[in-house]
Amino acid sequence: MSEAIERLLERLQTGWTPVASEIDRDIVQADALKWEWSHDGRSILSRSVDQRPQIHGDILYVSERLDFALTTEAMLWLIETRTTIPCVVCGRELDDESSGNNQPVAGLAFQCGGHWPSSVFDRGDGTFLEINVCEPCLRTATAQRRVLHGDREHRRARATYKIWDRAGPGDEIVGDDVWILQRDADESDEDYAERAAMLGCDSEGRLTIRRH
Ligand SMILES: [Zn+2]
Repeated sequence: MSEAIERLLERLQTGWTPVASEIDRDIVQADALKWEWSHDGRSILSRSVDQRPQIHGDILYVSERLDFALTTEAMLWLIETRTTIPCVVCGRELDDESSGNNQPVAGLAFQCGGHWPSSVFDRGDGTFLEINVCEPCLRTATAQRRVLHGDREHRRARATYKIWDRAGPGDEIVGDDVWILQRDADESDEDYAERAAMLGCDSEGRLTIRRH
C-alpha cells in the first residue's frame, strides 16, 4: 500500500466525502460497473467499461452509501447497477440502465401520484410512489387482460382506455399462452440470447405465460 493511499484512508476515516479532482494523482481511480463482493468479502469484482471482468482488492474502506471504496491499489467509484427495488410482483432483482434513476432493464417503472379514496397514498403534494414490474410478470398480466392502455388528447382531457393486448413489440403470438420473443433489428445474437434467458424463454425464444 502506497503512502498516498494511506493518507487517503486516514482522510476518509474522518468522514470526508471524496471528490475525484481532490484525490492525489498517484492514486489510480476506476469506475466499478456491475460490481459485487468476492466470495470472501475482501475484494470487489466488477466490469470495465468494455465489459472485461476485474478484481479489486484488498478493500480498506467502503462508504456507508456503497458509492465508493478504497483498496490497497485504487480508489473505486461503485456504480450502482441494480434498481433500488425489485419487481413488486415476484421480487426479481432488476438491472438499472440509468445508474440511480430507476430505469429497469427488462421491466417497467410505474409512478402514481395517489388519489382519493386511497388509504395508502393520497397526498396530492406532487410526491409519488413508484414500483417496478418485470417483463415476465407484465407479459403474464397482459395475457390475463389486467393491463390498461390509456390515451388522452391533451393533458386535461379525459383518458380513454383499452385493454393492452400486445406481447412485446413485434413478438409473434403462437398460442394463447405462448409468445416467441423477436430479435430487435440492431440486437446481436449474444444480446438476444441474454435477453431471452432473462425473460425465461426456452432455447427457441418461446415464452410460456404462467397462469396463476
Ligand atoms: Zn416480476
